[in-house]
Amino acid sequence: MQDGKDAAEKIDLVLMGEKRRQMHIAIEMTQVNGETGRVRDHDNQYPVPMPRLPLEERDGIKEVELGHDLEGIDVHATRCYWCQFKLEIDHDLCIHCNWCIAVTPRDCINQVSRLFTDDDGFVESSLETSIAAEATYIWIDSKECIRCGNCVRICPTSAITMRKTELCGCSTDDYKKLEESNQPYGSVLHKKYQFLDEQPV
Ligand code: SF4
Ligand code: SF4
Repeated sequence: MQDGKDAAEKIDLVLMGEKRRQMHIAIEMTQVNGETGRVRDHDNQYPVPMPRLPLEERDGIKEVELGHDLEGIDVHATRCYWCQFKLEIDHDLCIHCNWCIAVTPRDCINQVSRLFTDDDGFVESSLETSIAAEATYIWIDSKECIRCGNCVRICPTSAITMRKTELCGCSTDDYKKLEESNQPYGSVLHKKYQFLDEQPV
């Protein structure tokens, strides 16, 4: 589907001679207090096999993959890790009580003494510690997070927040308005926009 959208944008650029659509990432604080409905049991759902047309009925024209029924769709939906939700810890608010670590459904939050990042600032690895005096950070490993929200709800100082990130497209005029209205984080109501470099064409 994304390939189709990309192709449409490139065709529009060639025909109109200008880029009329801009992409940005919208980051919004969620208001659900971590209540996503995602639980550990959902990790154990096996993917439902795609129903297919029997071999003897295939004629080279009919669709081979028939699509899921409602039950199959439901199972696939519950397997989703909801990675559009990102958890962040405000280290100024963290009192290192470790309650968040106590309620994790898997190895997703750790005490670490160092984080190692790549050139783009993404965390590549960490140095875990079980010694409180060495624990510089409480760190959420997004790759392990299943978005259950336990840590958000248990944190006594509201140091952990859940944000929704979304890749959005809009007209060039609206894009300029967003740039002008952009604000830093600070309230739970506003959105923050991260602007992408010119998209490759
Ligand atoms: S529950 Fe909150 S305050 Fe306690 S260690 Fe976790 S982030 Fe820090
Ligand atoms: S929401 Fe918090 S407790 Fe739940 S999996 Fe993610 S980091 Fe762990």
